[in-house]
Amino acid sequence: MAEETPMVSHPESVNPGSSKVRRVLVLGGGSAGLLAALTLKRLHPALEVSLVYSSELGVIGVGEGTTAVFPAHLFETLGIPKEEFYREARPTWKQGIRLLWGPREEFFYDFEFQYDQRFEGMPKANGFYAAGDCGDLSQAGALMGRDKAFTTGPLGRPVIKGQYAFHIENHRLVSCLESIARRSGITLEDDTLERAEVDAGKVTALHFKSGTTRSADLYIDASGFSAELIGKALAEPFKSFSDSLFCDRAVIGGWQREDEPIHPYTTAETMYHGWCWQIEHETFINRGYVYSSNFVSDEEARAELVAKNPKITETRVVKFRSGRYERSWVGNVVAIGNASGFVEPLEATALAQVIYESNWLAESLRQTGYHLDEAMTAAFNRVVGIAWDEIRDFLAYHYRFNTRHNTPFWMHCRAHTSLGNYQTFHDFYQEVGPNPVLLVHALPARPNIYGVEGFLAMLVGMQVPHEASYQPGDAEFEAFRAHRNKLAAQAKGGVSVRQALDAIRRPSWQWT
Ligand SMILES: Cc1cc2nc3c(=O)[nH]c(=O)nc-3n(C[C@H](O)[C@H](O)[C@H](O)COP(=O)(O)OP(=O)(O)OC[C@H]3O[C@@H](n4cnc5c(N)ncnc54)[C@H](O)[C@@H]3O)c2cc1C
Repeated sequence: MAEETPMVSHPESVNPGSSKVRRVLVLGGGSAGLLAALTLKRLHPALEVSLVYSSELGVIGVGEGTTAVFPAHLFETLGIPKEEFYREARPTWKQGIRLLWGPREEFFYDFEFQYDQRFEGMPKANGFYAAGDCGDLSQAGALMGRDKAFTTGPLGRPVIKGQYAFHIENHRLVSCLESIARRSGITLEDDTLERAEVDAGKVTALHFKSGTTRSADLYIDASGFSAELIGKALAEPFKSFSDSLFCDRAVIGGWQREDEPIHPYTTAETMYHGWCWQIEHETFINRGYVYSSNFVSDEEARAELVAKNPKITETRVVKFRSGRYERSWVGNVVAIGNASGFVEPLEATALAQVIYESNWLAESLRQTGYHLDEAMTAAFNRVVGIAWDEIRDFLAYHYRFNTRHNTPFWMHCRAHTSLGNYQTFHDFYQEVGPNPVLLVHALPARPNIYGVEGFLAMLVGMQVPHEASYQPGDAEFEAFRAHRNKLAAQAKGGVSVRQALDAIRRPSWQWT
């Protein structure tokens, strides 16, 4: 799934008149503001980073699945001790997504390579053999298929390595990051922004409810959907994704876990007017039905969710719009997180995008020697914009090819979802089939967060037709099956989420 991508370009020269960035003010203390502040402070310790959040307004309180970029960023880039993170944030592991989607009963999308690979000795890539059974194409897929989190290592311990991700309750994540931010030298203050002063396209000061005025050389707008600086103060135009993504609400509910197993994946289940996630926390199961208000009322959506999940007692509705600001970096304001853009959580991409934006910003500052440079700002906006559009197009594949239900919503999706910049990729797939060596040439501009793998996982997973079907001989198919059997055997002897949690809590456990 998602992988770390470097900034794509850098300028030859720096605007000589611009002053240096020394003080950064982050507006917003949700996961976006905290991750941005921590990333800047860690990669540029000399910067003075302060963060203002509003306890009066709170945080969004949803955003509970990550991709594999998240643990890598936390533990490797930010250097957060694993002991502390597991103790305070209490995550469970996610090896990928189980999709109840398309004509198959289910298929898995993980963070490894299933389709963008060819098993040793096989003449064709995996997708050519997976038209029927598409299980056990990677170790993670084989684990998910058996409800196991990890393979088993020496002394029966879980091998917690590789491309795994997390499920984390948003409030636990925020409070864990808050305490790490405080001791990292980031100033955190509770206040509510009333008004921003703007002069010549730049923010010059922020006025807060307490009567305090704060200013900085660079402002990070991490104020969530309200986009106080980028949207309200600077009036940057918003680019809607409504040509591709028709959902605009989620009804959310859950229940205390009883004897249900903790699955090592997020479930994404097709519903009549959208889809429903199931996120696995240790003591709580969280479900959220994402739907389009053009096709179903809040009450009907709630009834459909509760009928499938009778243990849900309380629900709440969250409204959103999918899209992004034309530019995320305008003047001396950089928007990160929901203030920069939002796509619905079908692939839990938001935190990964926060991490990319934070890293790209840190890299931009490094390259310009902390100057606000127009060429670098333009390069940042280009890469961030392409990344948002790629997520949009990736999600569009999920909607366009899902044949599970014939309700008006799904018929509308199949007829009207635009594939955006990835239309050519699909056209080429129809001709050449799941051939990653050829398809790589149909990928549009970088960063290509999902690469060939993500798009192929959807196309093969949903059995989207192509003209290059392949019939291997018996011996060849047997050789393919032998590879899968090996992965399956490893997975069978694996460790469940429960067992892995117990293992890391034993006093003898040591993180390496
Ligand atoms: C239905 C739904 C499901 C989602 N699921 C996922 C998921 O599975 N995975 C994922 O990665 N993401 C998911 N997200 C996205 C998730 O919300 C974000 O990844 C993440 O929580 C970042 O939010 P944020 O920090 O940008 O905004 P928020 O959490 O809203 O934080 C905004 C901050 O700004 C502050 N603020 C706002 N206005 C002011 C003001 N005037 N003065 C001072 N402070 C202010 C607030 O108090 C708060 O501290 C989901 C989103 C939705 C809507």
